[in-house]
Amino acid sequence: MATSVLNSSVLVLNRFYQPVHVTSVKRAFSLLYQGVAKAIDQQYRLYEFEDWAALSAAAHHDAIGTPHKRIRVPRVVVLMAYEYLPKGRVRFSRLNIYARDQDTCQYCGRQLPRSELNLDHVVPRAQGGKTTWENVVCSCIACNLKKGGRTPEQASMRLLKKPVRPRWTPLMRGAHKRVTYREWLPFLNVADASYWNVELVDE
Ligand SMILES: [Zn+2]
Repeated sequence: MATSVLNSSVLVLNRFYQPVHVTSVKRAFSLLYQGVAKAIDQQYRLYEFEDWAALSAAAHHDAIGTPHKRIRVPRVVVLMAYEYLPKGRVRFSRLNIYARDQDTCQYCGRQLPRSELNLDHVVPRAQGGKTTWENVVCSCIACNLKKGGRTPEQASMRLLKKPVRPRWTPLMRGAHKRVTYREWLPFLNVADASYWNVELVDE
């Protein structure tokens, strides 16, 4: 049995399909076998261990077992009775700022596709504004241009609400630094993980 496959990564979701962490194939099979987790396929169907084991493992699937019986490796499992998210600091990333602000421009209040949004420093960096939860908001490109290098007061633009550090964890920490499998993407809700999840820093 290939140890590399057994040690490769499986994304673990809580029962709300929110990513909680990344585990090994070995551990994921153990969770499945114990009935604690179900495997999920790319059509979002859930499988208990026996049903999953009965699926045919096509040649392109990673699988474990013998030449006579190959069991397909799940890349995403759901913990059926687990509803918590890992505790800890919320990653200060573009994705999480957009999530905090609900993809809504904090100046004009329009909710837009993420491709039409930008990040805005409330107090511009040129005026000493920091790259922090409290000073960065989601803005549409038009408002961003209109505001330019001014504070909201200077530009006579008002923020919808005061930006704060969120208390929730919209994505698990760590694991999204390495989106290893295509199957993870629907659950990480990212088009390009590196763009969305790179930690934002003061330049
Ligand atoms: Zn706007």
